[in-house]
Amino acid sequence: MGPIPYGTQHITDKDIEAVTEVLRADYLTQGPQIPQFEEAFADYIGSDYAVAVSNGTAALHLSVLALGVEPGQKVITTPITFAASANCVKYAGGEVDFVDIDLDTFLIDLDLVEEKLVNAKPDDYAGIIPVDFTGLAVDTERLQAIADKYDLWILEDACHAPGGSFEDSQRENVYCGDCQYADASIFSFHPVKHIAAGEGGMITTNDKDFKKKLEVLRTHGITKETNIFKNSVAVALGGNNTIDGAEGKQKKTTQRSPSTEYPGWYYEMQELGYNYRLTDIQCTLGLSQLQRADQGLQKRRGIARRYDEAFKNIGEIITQNVSPEDQENHHAYHLYVIQVENRKELYNYLREQEIYSQIHYIPVHLLPYYQQFGWEKGNFPKAEEYYERCISLPMYPTLSDDQQEFVIEKVLEIVT
Ligand SMILES: *Cc1c(COP(=O)(O)O)cnc(C)c1O
Repeated sequence: MGPIPYGTQHITDKDIEAVTEVLRADYLTQGPQIPQFEEAFADYIGSDYAVAVSNGTAALHLSVLALGVEPGQKVITTPITFAASANCVKYAGGEVDFVDIDLDTFLIDLDLVEEKLVNAKPDDYAGIIPVDFTGLAVDTERLQAIADKYDLWILEDACHAPGGSFEDSQRENVYCGDCQYADASIFSFHPVKHIAAGEGGMITTNDKDFKKKLEVLRTHGITKETNIFKNSVAVALGGNNTIDGAEGKQKKTTQRSPSTEYPGWYYEMQELGYNYRLTDIQCTLGLSQLQRADQGLQKRRGIARRYDEAFKNIGEIITQNVSPEDQENHHAYHLYVIQVENRKELYNYLREQEIYSQIHYIPVHLLPYYQQFGWEKGNFPKAEEYYERCISLPMYPTLSDDQQEFVIEKVLEIVT
């Protein structure tokens, strides 16, 4: 049957043709594929803007920088996520705080978020990073109501959930990352995610100024927009070191050939940014993959349905509590997680069969880097209980019926 991973990319001839075309074109990076991918992605997700960056972690980093966190100020996230959802806060000089999960959905428990904030001092917290873990949407409508009360920003980590959604109180479909109830959202194009670009990330937002800020931070903090330049034309030309003002203007009139135009080569670095650009090669692959995103989503939902069916009467297996409506129309199924008592035995047995399941995730607060800040076992009992039993089964659009049957058979052999 061949090895079966928990997730993998799907590359078609069309993808390969698209990439080959870019390799023969003028731009490998900073070319036209970037805005094309950004616009198509924003369109798919339902946000006004999208900014492409080098990976999902860079997307988190720039977003937290642009949203703002004061030194020592705290940002809330879930312990059941990839470390990057927390690390971005540390990059920006903030402190990470965690809130336990709900054991039915595996998502951050919004009741506990509220409880934590009620008892906090004003300005203790800058923001919150909810994670649409496995592809199930966090109720950002409710979260925003909480965040507004305490003046917090919301950065949605939607890496697991392109195409995912929930129905809000108006019975409108809210898509993960459409930023209807969040300041910004981020995605990853790592090969195990829905859309593969090799590496890659995207930030979505509905705020034009925020988008511009991200674009500058993405490329060293350098801008070429003349209307926001800080130095005068004279300085730009290498002359007097004065900032634009009455004095500068007067001087200009005495110059032999007065110039009011910034020279074409001139740029300003106005803040400390990074090189977090995504290449045209990657954007093309992402753009090509995006055309099949809905197809992939339907495949994922079909696979989840078959797993649910196979496990529903098995007392030894606990599945994520997903309503039939969510299963059919809303869940994006990056992961299919089950919980079993003999998890290690199952993991090892599946490996013997070349089924490479995975564990998502070791709770972030129990990673040694975070333990040094005082986090320890017992802090988040539900996340820890979940972690003891969780295992992610193969879930990707090209998983065949036969492969899935084989996985189900092997799981049941050990578990029951
Ligand atoms: C993959 C992932 C990231 C990081 O994305 P990279 O592109 O690998 O940097 C962040 N958060 C979550 C929840 C992820 O799954």
